[in-house]
Amino acid sequence: MEKKYEQVKVDTKAVWAGEQDYLVHGATQVPVIPSVAFGYDDMDEWYDVAIGKKKGHIYGRNTNPTVQAFEDKLKILEGAKAATSFSTGMAAISNTLYTFLTPGDRIVSIKDTYGGTNKIFTEFLPRMGVEVALCETGNHEEIEKVVKQGCKVLYLETPTNPTVKITDIEAMAKVGKEVGALVIVDNTFATPINQNPLELGVDLVIHSATKFLGGHADALGGVVCGNDSELVEAIYHYREINGATMDPWAAYLILRGMKTLHLRVERQQENAMKLAKYLQTEEMVDAVFYPGLETHPGYDIAKKQMRGFGGMLSFAVKDGVDTVRELLPKLEFAHRAANLGAVETTVGPARTTSHVECTPEERAAMGIPEGLIRISCGIENIEDIIADFKQAFAGLRTTVNS
Ligand SMILES: *Cc1c(COP(=O)(O)O)cnc(C)c1O
Repeated sequence: MEKKYEQVKVDTKAVWAGEQDYLVHGATQVPVIPSVAFGYDDMDEWYDVAIGKKKGHIYGRNTNPTVQAFEDKLKILEGAKAATSFSTGMAAISNTLYTFLTPGDRIVSIKDTYGGTNKIFTEFLPRMGVEVALCETGNHEEIEKVVKQGCKVLYLETPTNPTVKITDIEAMAKVGKEVGALVIVDNTFATPINQNPLELGVDLVIHSATKFLGGHADALGGVVCGNDSELVEAIYHYREINGATMDPWAAYLILRGMKTLHLRVERQQENAMKLAKYLQTEEMVDAVFYPGLETHPGYDIAKKQMRGFGGMLSFAVKDGVDTVRELLPKLEFAHRAANLGAVETTVGPARTTSHVECTPEERAAMGIPEGLIRISCGIENIEDIIADFKQAFAGLRTTVNS
């Protein structure tokens, strides 16, 4: 029976979508198929599959059934027509950019993109003769002005890492389309539960599946999806040749994680809001960054384009790195690690995690204080998490005063 995914809500999609074509032998769960190659007795059928005339699988670097089930689920959650996956989020980003950019092209983006993405902009694209213009994140007038000077690609990320700045996707996509640019959004922080950039006029949406999609910090992956199948096909072709393919075991873990995506994100953002409000009351905290706070500069736009404010927040502490060094080891229920989007609360200084590739000067230019701590809220009971932060801050006062 063909299931009608357009008619059901996102929570139902997260659980059911994209799986039915891959269930074999009456299994209720998608199997992991680690086979590198797929065999054919009929030489004509093999040929037809190989040239793409008939559906099927040839070789694991190109396609794999378990990986395709993941792509199908993501595609349905983002309301896209096509999706292709990658070994990591960075592979998704780099392969997408390298598919479309050639020497002499110009790309416009923002200063606060993910650290690895920023490195592509500052190190690798200039080296291949692509002009990169990075605008102040959240400065829509500047983005509009710079885009109107002409560009092949407009690349956005919202909310951003680590100060959760917000860009108006619909308005900027419109500006990008006016100059014929390909508009790409990294939707990792928002997840398809909170934000669907394709509905707002964007061409391609990227995720690091390593983060919220997988949700358990045990598998790496990335994905690109869009409504123009030819664009996605071009990226797929670049990836199948350059080889940054998603592993079927990772696909299985991420697929399993995605069945609870909506539940995890709902809890994570509920926790994030409560934690943000509590942190505002701590005397050692200079500033709290969370788009769900009405004082956040991106609050109105976030409210317009997101269904929830997400599980990511950050805060700046007084006395910078010294406080960070004292505070974080005192937390009992938080991993001190570079990851985000997992079921456990995870903390880290921006200088060590998202923006470790940058120099202190570069971080300062991006408005990232050295005492900035990023929090990825987990699904724990928020009372325990707040109590944990309280005891850590209290311990800090003892240490500082003695
Ligand atoms: C982690 C992350 C990436 C990179 O993903 P990997 O799977 O680590 O390669 C890209 N964009 C954002 C917003 C991220 O948080």
